[in-house]
Amino acid sequence: MVGTMHAWHAVNRGHEVVQIERESEARGASLRNFGQIWVSGRAGGEELETALRARELWESIGERVPGLGFRACGSLTLVRTARETAVAEAAVARPDAAARGYKLLTAEEARAVNPALRGDFTAALWCERDAAVEPRTAQLALKEELLASGRYTYLGGREVREVTGTASVRDDHGDVHTGDTVVLATGAWLGGLVRELAGPDLPVRRVRLQMMQTDPLGETLTTSVADADSFRYYPAYAGEALDALNAGQAQAPTAAEHRMQLLMVQRRDGGLTIGDTHEYEHPFAFDTVEEPYEHLTRVVESFLGRPLPRVRRRWAGVYAQCTDTSRVVHRQQVRDGVWLVTGPGGRGMTCSPAIAETTADELNW
Ligand SMILES: Cc1cc2nc3c(=O)[nH]c(=O)nc-3n(C[C@H](O)[C@H](O)[C@H](O)COP(=O)(O)OP(=O)(O)OC[C@H]3O[C@@H](n4cnc5c(N)ncnc54)[C@H](O)[C@@H]3O)c2cc1C
Repeated sequence: MVGTMHAWHAVNRGHEVVQIERESEARGASLRNFGQIWVSGRAGGEELETALRARELWESIGERVPGLGFRACGSLTLVRTARETAVAEAAVARPDAAARGYKLLTAEEARAVNPALRGDFTAALWCERDAAVEPRTAQLALKEELLASGRYTYLGGREVREVTGTASVRDDHGDVHTGDTVVLATGAWLGGLVRELAGPDLPVRRVRLQMMQTDPLGETLTTSVADADSFRYYPAYAGEALDALNAGQAQAPTAAEHRMQLLMVQRRDGGLTIGDTHEYEHPFAFDTVEEPYEHLTRVVESFLGRPLPRVRRRWAGVYAQCTDTSRVVHRQQVRDGVWLVTGPGGRGMTCSPAIAETTADELNW
């Protein structure tokens, strides 16, 4: 999505773009994510500004490309204990709360917004700015619109192997592509070409997550849903109330072991995408393990007050994250006319249109 959004801005500014993708169609983090356009947890300042700008861009691109499945569904982070509620209260007291559309709702008010939540919780943090798109098909929908411009070429099944000169690369078919600018948006593929160009000290690490998707729920989940464990992961919630939560209320052992939070969003077919875990140590597991799925199932069933539909898909994905997690992205000129843009972390889907817009502005496209 980072590469595609660069293509989007370049084409819309009148340029011609060749997008080179190693797989016949992309299969990386941008297809494996929740599709959450997630404003709620962003750190104040540059990160929030980037996410809010990106949210605007997603909405306007979504109007042009209905296949993105953009919807301004908002999110509810459900709380149960006094310590969790205190974190939500601290969030709504932030000076930037209005920009995020934060509001603290009673359980009854939350059920009025999302009637599928018939289970157990006492209050909810509403974030009006949160939205969602369909990650499995977004890339294809954008590609179709880009192709219609007549200024876009997609070359799938080709790997970029070498920088051959100013803004010039060779692919593994031996073809050389030369332009005014090359943007390498290789996601979490940080070895090979990227290591050769950027060196061994690239300040970006890889993070692996486990996810699942159910059969259709049979009713509408009108908002995205998170649990209070998500407070522990997102920088927006840092502060005394979160310190008290971390000190006084342990995560469930499985959640702590796999560094979990619940995030859930309904797909257009009615199924629920549910996650996630966080794995930082290498080598990553090559298989998915069941305990996190059992934990997530328990949490979701307790919020919905009903059994979860059959789990239809399980998968893992890897994203690249700046080791200084306060940085929105790592943008580095690695050769004449060649830029590496990677490391947007767990907010890369959200921020990709704004990240690409910044590149376009900085390079005077
Ligand atoms: C499970 C999971 C859930 C997530 N949930 C969310 C979410 O809900 N919201 C959010 O904002 N973010 C989320 N993220 C993060 C987000 O998905 C990523 O930050 C974002 O998709 C990164 O986009 P990208 O284009 O940089 O990487 P990718 O989508 O991985 O794309 C990189 C592409 O480059 C190609 N490539 C690599 N090397 C070469 C080469 N040499 N030649 C040609 N092609 C090459 C790859 O094949 C790949 O298609 C999640 C991530 C994961 C893994």
